[in-house]
Amino acid sequence: MQGALIVGNWKMNGSMASLAEIEAMAAARTDLWVAPPFTLVGGAVAAAGGRVRIGGQDCHANASGAHTGCVSAAMLADAGATFVIVGHSERRADNHESDADVRAKAMAARAAGLDVILCVGETETQRDAGQVEAVVGGQLAGSLPDAADGLIIAYEPVWAIGTGRTPTPEDVGSVHGFIRRQLVAHFGAAGQGVCILYGGSVKPDNAALLLGVADVGGALVGGASLTAASLVAIAAAV
Ligand code: PEP
Repeated sequence: MQGALIVGNWKMNGSMASLAEIEAMAAARTDLWVAPPFTLVGGAVAAAGGRVRIGGQDCHANASGAHTGCVSAAMLADAGATFVIVGHSERRADNHESDADVRAKAMAARAAGLDVILCVGETETQRDAGQVEAVVGGQLAGSLPDAADGLIIAYEPVWAIGTGRTPTPEDVGSVHGFIRRQLVAHFGAAGQGVCILYGGSVKPDNAALLLGVADVGGALVGGASLTAASLVAIAAAV
C-alpha cells in the first residue's frame, strides 16, 4: 500500500550504540517513526537529523510535578519528540493503567503538541470468548481524547505481541473495520481520517499481507524495529 506509516517501538531495549541504527534508518528513508527508551530520545532526535520522527513510549498526564520516575508529554516535546505511544498493552498490564489513565495521557500529549498513538487490543482469552469488539470498543470509548486531530490508533492483539503469531488478514480487517466505525460514531467525519495501525509480530515477510488489508494504515513494530535493516525492510515491503 502507498504511504503506510511504520512506527518502531524499542520498548526497554537499546543503548547509546543503538543510535547508529537511527542514523542508518535516516539514511535509508524519511518516513519512519521510532519510539526509543526515554534515555535515548534526545540522542535519537540528533541522530535522526529530522529524517526519522522520534517519540516516547509513554507520558505522564501532568505537565510537571512530584512524580518520581515519570516523564511528561511537555518534556518529550522539549527533547524534540513529536509523538508518544499511550495505552500499550504492556503498560496496561504491568502498570495497571486504566482507560481513564490512557485518555488523560492522550489529552496531555495533544496539549503538548505531540501526535498520539493510542493502543487497543484483546487478550487471547477475550478473543476465544468472542469478546473482541466488546473489549476494543470499551477501550476506545474509555480512552479516546476529545478530538481526532493528531490521533492514531494502533490495534495490537495482546496475544500477537512478541509471539510470532498474527491474526488472519480477515480478522485484522474485521477489527480495523470495527474501529473505523467506532471512530466515525465518536468523531463524525473526522473519524474517517484517523490512521489505524496494526501491531503484533509484524516482520519483513508478513508486512505486505497484513498491511494490504483495508483500513490498515501502517504498523506498530516491536522486535523487528530494533535494527535499521529490519524496519527499513518492513517499510520497503508495503
Ligand atoms: C508492540 O509491542 O507494539 C509490538 C507490536 O511488538 P512485536 O512487533 O514485537 O510483536
